[in-house]
Amino acid sequence: MTETSRQIVVVGGGIIGAAIAWQLTKRGAQVTLIEAGGIGGLTTAATWAWTNATAHNPKPYYDIRAASMTEWDRLADELPDLPYVRSGTLYADNDRFDTEAFVANHASWGYDVRSVSIDQARQHEPAVRDLEGPLAISDSEGAVDATAAAILFATLARKSGALVFTGIGVDAVSVDGQGRVDGVIMNDAPIKADEVIVAAGADTPRIVEPLGVTLPMETRRGVLATTKPLPRLIDRNILLPGLHVRQKADGALLAGASFGGEAPDVPAEEIANDLVSRIQSSIVGAENAELASISVGHRPTPGDGFPVVGRTSTIGGLYIATMHSGITLAPIVARLVADEILDDRRDPLLEPFGVDRFKS
Ligand SMILES: Cc1cc2nc3c(=O)[nH]c(=O)nc-3n(C[C@H](O)[C@H](O)[C@H](O)COP(=O)(O)OP(=O)(O)OC[C@H]3O[C@@H](n4cnc5c(N)ncnc54)[C@H](O)[C@@H]3O)c2cc1C
Repeated sequence: MTETSRQIVVVGGGIIGAAIAWQLTKRGAQVTLIEAGGIGGLTTAATWAWTNATAHNPKPYYDIRAASMTEWDRLADELPDLPYVRSGTLYADNDRFDTEAFVANHASWGYDVRSVSIDQARQHEPAVRDLEGPLAISDSEGAVDATAAAILFATLARKSGALVFTGIGVDAVSVDGQGRVDGVIMNDAPIKADEVIVAAGADTPRIVEPLGVTLPMETRRGVLATTKPLPRLIDRNILLPGLHVRQKADGALLAGASFGGEAPDVPAEEIANDLVSRIQSSIVGAENAELASISVGHRPTPGDGFPVVGRTSTIGGLYIATMHSGITLAPIVARLVADEILDDRRDPLLEPFGVDRFKS
């Protein structure tokens, strides 16, 4: 089957599905992208969107994250309108990070991170108060306007010939008599396909479960606070104890408290108000910051914490792509998924992240 005759349905128009749809159409595949809500996703619309290959990750996971950071840089050259900025990060959170160990370990892996003194950090980020060492800076980390990026990818997919449906969900993935995917059911109507890629974020397990595919998934809540726009105060992603904050293109500060998910019983308003208080006391010039909006997302985190990207061994034509850190990972995952689907070539970077690792 040639690339141009192969029919592929992508379920989910968050950053993962949109990026995959674009990479596939770019290579000539016939793609239908189906999104139950609007392009830009659910979690993708409620993310902090920091691109990184930071601490606390084993080498294979570091490798794919670092490769994706390079891919973001490459995409920025290819797409002048890409809402991505290689802003860098100031690490000043010694509660969460063993900064010295992180720098030593990651520098030995070739990561762009270096220790800095308090004075050096102040020169880079003069508005950040009460810095306590050890501190580090990575210049190659960055941030994305994730919803805008997903919309851009879906728009490029459409321009390359993809059909894009929004506001209508896939009810089920259908299989033929041989147990191979033959399409999806949408609004009681079948859409034929040779391959179905389920990139439905936290909803992915619910879609593949009727096909006998088990996918443990945690969906811990993540609350972020956005302030009203302020004059430019900080350039980098700033990681402080109990506060990570960055300044968006419009001047608003976007902040979170935890990377692991907040306690479910604390109201989002309480977390957001506390974040604004922390911003006011941590950033010079933000003393009068005002809360503009609160976002609540659910991190699609497969059972062992790592991405799930690949075919299943039981259902031919079914491919799954769901993960946390999907903002960091979207560009490399999309390119490697297109390689696997169209060339039948699985890149070694994807090897640890197959679906079948959850087969009991
Ligand atoms: C607070 C918070 C902070 C985060 N910070 C970072 C960060 O700094 N860096 C980072 O890399 N990652 C971060 N993440 C994680 C990252 O945002 C997610 O991994 C990423 O957005 C997942 O994208 P997605 O496309 O898989 O999912 P989504 O954006 O949720 O998209 C999935 C889409 O599938 C659609 N869908 C579901 N069911 C169906 C159906 N039956 N038919 C059709 N469509 C369907 C949904 O409507 C949705 O739009 C954070 C997440 C949160 C919540």
